[in-house]
Amino acid sequence: MTFQTSDAAAPSAIAPQPGILEIEPYVGGESGAPGANRVIKLSSNENPLGCSPAAQAAFAECAGQLAIYPDGAHVRLRETIARAQGLEADRIVCGNGSDELLALLAQGYAGPGDEVVHCAHGFALYRINALANGATPVCAPERDLTTDVDAVLEACTERTRLVFIANPNNPTGTLVGREALERLADALPERTLLVLDGAYAEYVRDAGYDAGAEIARERENVVMTRTFSKIHGLAALRLGWMYAPRHVVDALGRFRAPFNVNAPALAAGEAAMRDQEYVERCATLNEAWRDWLVKRLAENGISCTPSHGNFILAEFGEGRAGAADAFLKARGLIGRKTASYGLPGHLRLTVGDETACRAVAEAVNAFTSQ
Ligand code: PMP
Repeated sequence: MTFQTSDAAAPSAIAPQPGILEIEPYVGGESGAPGANRVIKLSSNENPLGCSPAAQAAFAECAGQLAIYPDGAHVRLRETIARAQGLEADRIVCGNGSDELLALLAQGYAGPGDEVVHCAHGFALYRINALANGATPVCAPERDLTTDVDAVLEACTERTRLVFIANPNNPTGTLVGREALERLADALPERTLLVLDGAYAEYVRDAGYDAGAEIARERENVVMTRTFSKIHGLAALRLGWMYAPRHVVDALGRFRAPFNVNAPALAAGEAAMRDQEYVERCATLNEAWRDWLVKRLAENGISCTPSHGNFILAEFGEGRAGAADAFLKARGLIGRKTASYGLPGHLRLTVGDETACRAVAEAVNAFTSQ
């Protein structure tokens, strides 16, 4: 998915708000490979097993009620999430993908003259959302492709309104510990909101990991965002949620679209959240095949960052990543180039099912044996 910029964006009397034309449009994962017999999409970190059968059934049941508006307060879904996660339902906000929640946070809290801090290899939308609201994105350096809390703190000023950290991060897959994040939350300037993006939280196996719920629970300056697009396998429905202090819930509730989440998404999301057994099965399989794939690549001299998500970041070296991407694509394996993230020597590959992982390992072996 690519939005085209064009000459139509040339100066005109009718100009968009400051910052908009500085945005490099988000480029989503490719899904086609011309000439390949079969295609395995490993470019968007989707769940290779799909969604829970219960979620699929709940979605199908909605087909007879499409004339009816959805519940704009998302009461049942929020209560289901709250029960499953041990949270307060009135501190949960649901959105049209966590993308929407990230955008609402930026719209609500950052404007001209404000700064938004993100990490060097942080998710692309943080910068886009800052610019879209006329705010200035500020990039904090990382250490070993991992969030460096001290560098984040150094990047903050009195103008910083938001700090976005994905944990695990996309595209690096690396993790930062709870203690470091708590230290960050407590040392941020008074007017700064910390957003912990847990899009890949369910895949993490580290004891002591907290996606943000525990960090946010007792604090007024921390928000956690989550998605149904990854482990729950509902990317097509666009559904995300966040856990936030009540003052943030109140602010976003004043301007979000009244029916921002559609009825099939609400129904499928409820069923998916109840099916924690399915979540666990997907996480177990992901871990097994991720570790297997990392080992196979290492045998071929390709190292990966220690990933805690459902993808790996494989280092082919500058000048070779493009060739590796083309080689894989010719075999129907569609990965994601990461040059736009400042990682021109890497490729990000979703951990697929057994067939996909074996195909990737074989292709990388063939590529490196050339
Ligand atoms: N955060 C991160 C770190 C992501 O990788 C993604 C998806 N690529 C999102 C948020 C947004 O996901 P969604 O809008 O599908 O919930």
